[in-house]
Amino acid sequence: MDDFEVKTYYAIALDPIHVGTGRARLERVDLPIIREPGTNLPKIPGTSLSGPARTYTAIQTNRYRWSKDGREYSCAGRGGEGGENHCGSVNPACPVCVPYGFSKGSGNSMQGLAQFFDAQILLFPVASLAGTVWVTSPMALEGLGLNSEFQAPDNSFYPLGEQLKDKERLNFGWLMLPKGDGKGNLTNLPVPEEIKQRTVLVSDKLFPKIVNSNLEVRTSVSIDPATGTAEEGALFTYEAIPRGTVLKFDVVYNSGKYFRVGGEELKTEDGGDVGTQWVKAQVEKGLKLFEILGIGGMGTRGMGRLKILNLEKVNY
Ligand SMILES: [Zn+2]
Repeated sequence: MDDFEVKTYYAIALDPIHVGTGRARLERVDLPIIREPGTNLPKIPGTSLSGPARTYTAIQTNRYRWSKDGREYSCAGRGGEGGENHCGSVNPACPVCVPYGFSKGSGNSMQGLAQFFDAQILLFPVASLAGTVWVTSPMALEGLGLNSEFQAPDNSFYPLGEQLKDKERLNFGWLMLPKGDGKGNLTNLPVPEEIKQRTVLVSDKLFPKIVNSNLEVRTSVSIDPATGTAEEGALFTYEAIPRGTVLKFDVVYNSGKYFRVGGEELKTEDGGDVGTQWVKAQVEKGLKLFEILGIGGMGTRGMGRLKILNLEKVNY
């Protein structure tokens, strides 16, 4: 039994995705999305993935609202003021509280066995005169174990996919890019072939510029909750990662074999060890619902559905 497993997930945005900074600022849009400070690339924080994943695992395992011994629990969400609504059961291990963690006072809390890391943009869709082209950069592809070295030309593109090999230039409307010399291939990347065939490599310097110039900016109207009608003059704009964007994120699955909570050993329902595979299976039940129920804000405005491309092949 392994102590831990790191799994890299690949996901495609089925809708625009808005994960906001939580504060409106005086920028070019009213509601900007979160960016990585160093690169200025939009990202989805790990907490914005683990939050909905927790809720969806709770739905899938009947722990959203449930009762035991005459008590009501909800293992989704924060568990109320002091976490008292979480069941916190470790033997048998709650499929929500053990993977995602709980806190019910000293001696009776645990950090989740699954740790979520930020989702980063891997392949970004841009409209061109030659149809949609996905753009990526050597930095975006780093550390994925693709067994390929990536080199991008300056101020030009290098086609990684067959379909664009004969293009001498790409016209993005606001930017004309000539073809240059580069290196790399996406053979081992588990994303749809149609996308890989239309992917080009650009420099790490150009990539954030292309991404930030092609985010969705939408205008919406504020609804007065009291009357259900549009508030006068309350138009606002918000940014979103566009539909078709391919993202990647890591989840580390830890084994529960060394854990004791309140002196108790972690055991599954049938008395087995809480291993990495069990933890992963519970989390993936939740990740499966990302493509139906979505993540991020503006869910009621047709946003946020994210399809995970490499879940284990089991029926959750
Ligand atoms: Zn629970």
